[in-house]
Amino acid sequence: MRKDAQARKPEEACGLLIGRQEGDKAIVTEVVPMANVSRSPERFSIDSEEMYAVLQEAEDKGMTVLGSYHSHPSGHVPSCLDAKYMQHTSYVWMIVPDTGNVRAYVFQDGVKEMRMEEA
Ligand SMILES: [Zn+2]
Repeated sequence: MRKDAQARKPEEACGLLIGRQEGDKAIVTEVVPMANVSRSPERFSIDSEEMYAVLQEAEDKGMTVLGSYHSHPSGHVPSCLDAKYMQHTSYVWMIVPDTGNVRAYVFQDGVKEMRMEEA
């Protein structure tokens, strides 16, 4: 994830997190980089057909799409735009800052940080 973020600078890197959810913990078993169709340093979007293909493949393996990750050159806090989109999904949002630890967030009556494990 971090390598992907560095490689795609200054555009935001993004991708999907495959794995399973156990209680309040997300267990990530696979990270799939996706094209940022916005090609922007401030936002990202993933093509819905490409996303669907990844979702199908995950389900075939008995896994699910837990959420997405994207890089933030300017810190680990979700942007206003991120928060706006987060409200409409139950996905985990992982943010890869330029420096420091990767953080995971979910929207539950507001943006909340959650625990995350890589399997
Ligand atoms: Zn963001």
